[in-house]
Amino acid sequence: MTPTSTASRATVYGYPRQGADRRLKKSIESYWAGRVDADALLGTARELRRQNLAELRDAGIDEIPSNYFSFYDHVLDTAWLLGAIPERHLAAVPDATTPAGRLDRYFAMARGTADAPPMEMTKWFDTNYHYLVPELGPDTRFTLDAGKPLAEFAEALDQGVRTRPVLVGPVSFLLLAKDPTGADGFRPLDLLDRVVPLYVDLLRQLRAAGAEWVQLDEPALVTDQPADVLGKVAETYAALAAEPARPKILVASYFDRLGDALPVLASAPVEGLALDFTGNAAANLDGLAKIGGVQDKRLVAGVVNGRNVWAVDLADALGTLGTLLGLAGSVDVAASCSLLHVPLDVTLDTDLDPEIAGWLSFARQKLDEIVTLRRGLTEGRNAISNTLHVNASRLASRAASPIVKVPAVRERVAAVTDADLHRTSPYGERTKAQRDRLRLPELPTTTIGSFPQTAELRKARAALRAGRLDQDAYREAMRAEIRSVVAEQERIGLDVLVHGEPERNDMVQYFGEQLTGFLATQHGWVQSYGTRYVRPPIIVGDVARPAPMTVEWATYAQSLTERPVKGMLTGPVTMLAWSFVRDDQPAGDTARQVALALRDEVVDLEAAGIKVIQVDEPALRETLPLRTADRAAYLDWAVASFRLATSGVRDDTQVHTHMCYAEFGDVLQAIIDMDADVISLEAARSNMAVVADLARAGYPNEAGPGVWDIHSPRVPSVEEIVGHLRTATAAFPAERLWVNPDCGLKTRGYPEVRATLANLVAATGRLRSR
Ligand code: GLN
Ligand code: ZN
Repeated sequence: MTPTSTASRATVYGYPRQGADRRLKKSIESYWAGRVDADALLGTARELRRQNLAELRDAGIDEIPSNYFSFYDHVLDTAWLLGAIPERHLAAVPDATTPAGRLDRYFAMARGTADAPPMEMTKWFDTNYHYLVPELGPDTRFTLDAGKPLAEFAEALDQGVRTRPVLVGPVSFLLLAKDPTGADGFRPLDLLDRVVPLYVDLLRQLRAAGAEWVQLDEPALVTDQPADVLGKVAETYAALAAEPARPKILVASYFDRLGDALPVLASAPVEGLALDFTGNAAANLDGLAKIGGVQDKRLVAGVVNGRNVWAVDLADALGTLGTLLGLAGSVDVAASCSLLHVPLDVTLDTDLDPEIAGWLSFARQKLDEIVTLRRGLTEGRNAISNTLHVNASRLASRAASPIVKVPAVRERVAAVTDADLHRTSPYGERTKAQRDRLRLPELPTTTIGSFPQTAELRKARAALRAGRLDQDAYREAMRAEIRSVVAEQERIGLDVLVHGEPERNDMVQYFGEQLTGFLATQHGWVQSYGTRYVRPPIIVGDVARPAPMTVEWATYAQSLTERPVKGMLTGPVTMLAWSFVRDDQPAGDTARQVALALRDEVVDLEAAGIKVIQVDEPALRETLPLRTADRAAYLDWAVASFRLATSGVRDDTQVHTHMCYAEFGDVLQAIIDMDADVISLEAARSNMAVVADLARAGYPNEAGPGVWDIHSPRVPSVEEIVGHLRTATAAFPAERLWVNPDCGLKTRGYPEVRATLANLVAATGRLRSR
């Protein structure tokens, strides 16, 4: 099949859904609160789609997508599209014949109702976006509800724009699903035969409505897939392509290279491929060259990074596009993935230093980059020479900026030796020194750090920001909270106390605000899930710690009690994972800088008399590269940065770390290599399964498997916690076990915190007195 035109087009796969000022979020939350009705919400959504369409068109995007809008999540939308609605949500909202009924059933799937728990939520590949996991069992029957993609296509056509509907492809949809019944030998991918006919039907309907192209996203193919799955991919796309009355099919992949899936898609009878050419995915270029290109296809080239915030290097991207011209029937210019993952518009942040603003590119700026590159590709470099010039000088200003490269930081990183990555003595000796100094009972009890973030705390922070509360008054409010949290823990009888983290808005932002090299934005909101938006800090330059960050709070808490108070820090990997990371040096180099800053804090805490210091790394596993071939290198720098941060202390200072996920087979060795004296882990929901994993792997240090699933206010009884502890002590030496909840308590309320911690202490007492 020859593409109809060889002229390049500018396109994107999706745009931030929320509109300016997080309008969609506010409207949905008003609907949930009963302040606006379904018609009002649907009207706002329509208006936002109209505005986005106009924005994309006015920016010069030639082929505009549709169906990227979502009230909550695009994977949930796909489950709805295919009628894969769990029974409990059908029962919870039995009537979905009205617009309100449809919205309510949809939101019930996302958020649950009183008696119907929501669908599970998990991370979308290695981004910070979360999707709802489709529940598909052997008995799942699908029915097509094409209303949304058809309506959004028609709506745009009314505005005079023939869009390219974007859908999650059938293979990725099934690979992202889970079988909640856990039926033996069944995997959701076995349902392909039931799903493909619905996609065929959908393609037919979209064609009838006037769609010329449709985009099927198959990001799951950038993860390692066995040959039989790749075989299914080939069969699936052959089946879809066999439908004569369909639009042309563009299969899109992003976030990494396609690897073995590339030749499979290249030989599939579809008209277009969309590939990522940024970061690790740049290897797609070699992959394409190796198979002689896709001469019979339209290639959509994701050369503008869709998930970071940096201005593209236009000359470099033009070079890539030029090479690609020889490898495909036609080449279009795009962002590497949906622009959903970046904030809306740099120009909204009017307080930004204009020089720094010039280095940045959010969704709106990326549209301009894509359109410029399309012009450069079709009309030649001369046609865009001014823009190229401006771009080059901005990149040069970034490269030369004293904010970006700080000689003192670089010298310090360069001087790091292997000895800096090691504690003075091995764990066996450290633990003796720590036991002598801390004198803790068997099965010491502790918590993970945060105590409930009460309405008063949030009010105090808002008042400080608004200038209604001065620094001193704010500080006193925090001290009062610390007093009450310490007293609470003494009353309950915990062994190692925490200060409760009342002063922290967020475990990354709090440190980002105090480290140089981190930049905070006012309007850089990005969707995390549903109506939850976050403003990740941007790591612009070399990182250093101008002054202690937590010492005052920790020492104040310690001054109130005889029992040890744990200092509490966020680890280097997590600091990077929940920020936008610079693209001008390897992530591992940035992690080392953060690690050195944290090392200073750890040493200062020790010097101030803090005997136990916890460095949290909850994001260590979620940032694992998508391709297993890349994982060893990642874990190398991740572990090294943790060790660099924590190895500056004496033997008798106890280092803790914390991670919150229950399955950590992939990082077990890394956990051992981190050599923290104690690790606390999420374990309650998996019935302490992690403890046996640790024992099997020969984990030599101490561990605190969580005995309370803090995701719910449910109070586990003493017996239940005793049961967890028996399971744990059966698999792992009791003298190396700690007792603690799964994670921090900031999202919980005091009633359940008091009740559960009291039960936790009582249960521990029962095991001790055996
Ligand atoms: N110390 C943090 C807290 O307790 C850890 C949070 C986390 O693991 N996500 O809140
Ligand atoms: Zn946690």
